[in-house]
Amino acid sequence: MSITRRGFLSTAVAASVAAGLEGQENTDASRHVEPMRAARRPIIICANNGYNYLDDAFSFLKNGGDTLDAAIRVVKGPEDDPNDDSVGLGGLPNEEGVVELDACCMHGPTRRAGSVGGVRNIKNVALVSKAVIEHTGHVMLVGEGAERFAVAMGFPRENLLTERSRKIWLLWKQFHSTDDWWGPGLASPQFQFPDAGPRSELWEERLRRMEEHAAKLGIEPEFRMAAIRRVVFPPTGTIHCSALNEKGEISGCTTTSGLAFKLPGRCGDSPVIGAGCYTDQDVGSAGATGSGEENIKVAGAHTIVENMRRGMSPQEAGMDALKRIVRNYNGDMNKLRFMDMTYYVLRKDGAYAGVSLWDGYSPTSPHKIAIHDGTKRSEKTVALLKGVSQEFPPFPNIPKELSQDSEYLK
Ligand code: ASP
Repeated sequence: MSITRRGFLSTAVAASVAAGLEGQENTDASRHVEPMRAARRPIIICANNGYNYLDDAFSFLKNGGDTLDAAIRVVKGPEDDPNDDSVGLGGLPNEEGVVELDACCMHGPTRRAGSVGGVRNIKNVALVSKAVIEHTGHVMLVGEGAERFAVAMGFPRENLLTERSRKIWLLWKQFHSTDDWWGPGLASPQFQFPDAGPRSELWEERLRRMEEHAAKLGIEPEFRMAAIRRVVFPPTGTIHCSALNEKGEISGCTTTSGLAFKLPGRCGDSPVIGAGCYTDQDVGSAGATGSGEENIKVAGAHTIVENMRRGMSPQEAGMDALKRIVRNYNGDMNKLRFMDMTYYVLRKDGAYAGVSLWDGYSPTSPHKIAIHDGTKRSEKTVALLKGVSQEFPPFPNIPKELSQDSEYLK
């Protein structure tokens, strides 16, 4: 397989053009009309990577199982799956090649919360966050202390770095130079977009060498393009799940390996109660996947639940949180296209919404929410902005026409 720069970039550039030219609030009325569906209980909603685990969790919930246990049944699936490189075992590691996991949970009926951040060597961190609730007087444990706590609770220590993730990390080590998570970041006034133009030749050469190196590392030909893509555009990935039973009890949890190649010790939004997940037994539950730093700044999940408390629908509540992210960048689409956010929102009566900043990561992979309320399905999220996002750090050769500021918020 040979990777031409053009071929490699086709999706990304198509995506960028869509983002740059269409980066404005969706005006298509049908996209904002809330579906007229009857709210049903019990119900479980989650990020789409939980789809395969919904049947088991739903029947558990229907048969009287606890709401938090049901939600954790869903997220444990991707945590245990070595091929899901965004969560648990096989998650893409930090910049030193070490997998560090974050998770949190809230149990509505007892109004309790638990969280763990930067945990190494333990794959089921959502369960560890639940153990924090049940076996400590704390809410949040991080790093080595969290790992030691998990071992004391009987969780096995294991190597979370699969061969596939290790090879992608090695490829990243070889490739990266200035394109990492060290500052200045996107939010810094000092941030500068990488040069376009003359460097594109160099990029072509770099991509060719990366392909060679990927082959030497033994990355399977059919996965090589995906591996290179993960190196050039370090991916995000997470799972959130909220579960509501027939009685109206509600819980939520979120678990992740966080941003690929992050600085060691970096915690994203997922373990932050009120950002990656928030559940209030009186109102509902919300959770997030996407650009963690942005979500922390708007306390996304808490904002959404509070919005619903004040009478907003799940969709309106989520859209308001997304608008706060847009406002933090004064509507600057040139920066906003490098971030994305999806919120999963469940109200206590069973009404739900999946909303996202952009339509998806590419025109063919829209953001989705998975639902089980007796019928299992995936639905596209409702996006605030038209087009697709690009991963960060930015690829240097960004077409000029993308540098337009949006009319949004003006
Ligand atoms: N929110 C996660 C984080 O920032 C990543 C993701 O959801 O994709 O760690």
